[in-house]
Amino acid sequence: MTDASAGAPTLHGYHAHVYYDQETLPRAERLRETLAANFLVQVGRLNDAPLGPHPVSQFAAIFETNAFEKVIPWLMLNRDGLDILIHPLTDDMVDDHTVYALWLGSQIQLKLDTMQRRGYSAALLPAA
Ligand code: ZN
Repeated sequence: MTDASAGAPTLHGYHAHVYYDQETLPRAERLRETLAANFLVQVGRLNDAPLGPHPVSQFAAIFETNAFEKVIPWLMLNRDGLDILIHPLTDDMVDDHTVYALWLGSQIQLKLDTMQRRGYSAALLPAA
């Protein structure tokens, strides 16, 4: 029997990063509250300043692999014009934010120059 996942990177969950600006902030706040209330996700705070590879304001939602099929279709239909990055959590952050990345809306140019090819701190992974 062949196993399609053989040799594939280990998947520890996903992040969805929802980008906003001053004008779209109210929509991002609504989306964040709805996500937190209806899905098994951990939502982070609204980061108005650039953070890590994210050059513009955003918040993150962290979730387990088994929540993907619920969260992503909902975001596709309810993103309200906001641009969203969905990336897996493997042991290589660079690949996660480039070749493995999934975008809803327009792609944001990420700052990858300081990012290392390693995994994430526990705070950035789904809580056990
Ligand atoms: Zn992330």
